[in-house]
Amino acid sequence: MTTHFDAIIIGSGQAGPFLAVKLAAAGKQVALIERNVLGGTCVNTGCTPTKAMVACAKVVHTAREAAKYGVHVQSDISVSLAEIKARGDQIVQNSRHSLRKMLDNAKGCTVIYGQAQFISPHEVQVGDQTLEGDAIFINVGGRAAEPGLPGLKNVKHLTNSTVLQLTELPRHLIVVGGGAVGVEFAQIFRRFGCDVTLVEMKSALVHREDADASKLMGELFQQEGIRLRLGAECVSFSSLPDGVCVHVSCKSDEPEVHGSHVLLAMGRTPNTSDLGLQAAGVQTDAQGFIPVDDQLRTNVSHIWALGDCNRRGAFTHTSYNDFEIVAANLLDGASRRITDRIPVRATYSDPPLAQVGMTEEEARASGRELLIGKRPMTSVARAIEKGETFGFMKAIVDAKTRRILGATIFGVGGDEAIHCILSTMYADQPYTTLTHAVHIHPTVAELIPTLLGSLQPAR
Ligand SMILES: Cc1cc2nc3c(=O)[nH]c(=O)nc-3n(C[C@H](O)[C@H](O)[C@H](O)COP(=O)(O)OP(=O)(O)OC[C@H]3O[C@@H](n4cnc5c(N)ncnc54)[C@H](O)[C@@H]3O)c2cc1C
Repeated sequence: MTTHFDAIIIGSGQAGPFLAVKLAAAGKQVALIERNVLGGTCVNTGCTPTKAMVACAKVVHTAREAAKYGVHVQSDISVSLAEIKARGDQIVQNSRHSLRKMLDNAKGCTVIYGQAQFISPHEVQVGDQTLEGDAIFINVGGRAAEPGLPGLKNVKHLTNSTVLQLTELPRHLIVVGGGAVGVEFAQIFRRFGCDVTLVEMKSALVHREDADASKLMGELFQQEGIRLRLGAECVSFSSLPDGVCVHVSCKSDEPEVHGSHVLLAMGRTPNTSDLGLQAAGVQTDAQGFIPVDDQLRTNVSHIWALGDCNRRGAFTHTSYNDFEIVAANLLDGASRRITDRIPVRATYSDPPLAQVGMTEEEARASGRELLIGKRPMTSVARAIEKGETFGFMKAIVDAKTRRILGATIFGVGGDEAIHCILSTMYADQPYTTLTHAVHIHPTVAELIPTLLGSLQPAR
């Protein structure tokens, strides 16, 4: 038997559940299909559990540094990964529970658990049920990429999902991949007291970020005792009786890295290969991502793709914004577009690295005439008071239009402070709007007017 719905949503990531509720509130009959648990990557194996762990790692770090603040911890600091996991699990469960409640309260919305697969452009199979939808929204997200590196299949390795199941600290964790995910886990486990080696094929960590920030991230990690093996062009794996060996160089005389555990953080693969997209006529690119137009439509006009699987964003906030765009366009007659979005992101190292708009390198490559300002975090009163002066802030302005093109804040509170720059960019106001603004003292954001007041022509 086939059940008809106005809308079918595949995947309960960061767009699907909110779209389901909004469409149901508009009187549509909606099916939301989830093959695992509600909330997708962010809630279950991404943002939420990792930021909970970042908070625990910060506590350990602060406890170790306590004497610098005149606070003396009387006993040794010990870390219980089982208790840290239990704390994170609780936060995750609460978040999942709120989603469940939100969906239960949405009249007209049916949640169906199971693997969804297209069998025709309007039909989706879930177990023995066939659902027919006038409109179909794909929000299937991604999973940790497992590249075909030599030996990888023969060694036990962790991903962002399985590492969260550990209840005992690894003796020596080898993290392969120096992007945001790898960097976060490397610092977390180092602060928990593990030996950590971070292997990265490029010559720098977070290599897509501002070059000064990327270099400084390497310095921070070395200060914290994380061993770096950068420029590891030939990565391969083999088993050891008590762990894993990671070969990191094409030259045979370069030392190998021996560890107890290896964590892969080498990018994400979209969950599209088992969706039956061919039956619906939905095209993918060579990596399996689903190309969409500026309003999130795939090449099939009644099928949309939202979130990480469309490669137009790789964050919770971009996936959620995809939902906002689709909902506004379909229900409110708006014509919102992905290209109206200003890129913004943070890497949750401690201190965090926040980026809005263009990096300095991207702005220089655009050929514009630039004004650039840079100030160290040692100029921020609040950072001094907190004893956390590592890092810098930088802003890049178009000299002709006086509009801010981008900014980097790698420092305490940077992930929050960056939003005043973001809002000015959305308002399409000149940078002088911010130099004239009075900010609260003492905050990290209060240095931003000073930063923008110190712009110099780029050399
Ligand atoms: C370790 C880590 C940390 C992160 N930290 C942050 C952060 O701090 N901030 C941030 O903005 N982003 C972060 N991200 C990225 C963020 O998690 C994703 O960008 C976000 O979850 C968007 O995902 P999505 O909406 O595309 O789908 P997802 O959240 O991936 O959810 C997709 C859902 O679809 C389901 N599904 C897949 N295929 C099918 C199918 N065929 N049938 C039924 N259901 C299906 C899956 O089970 C899943 O529940 C992090 C990612 C990782 C891995």
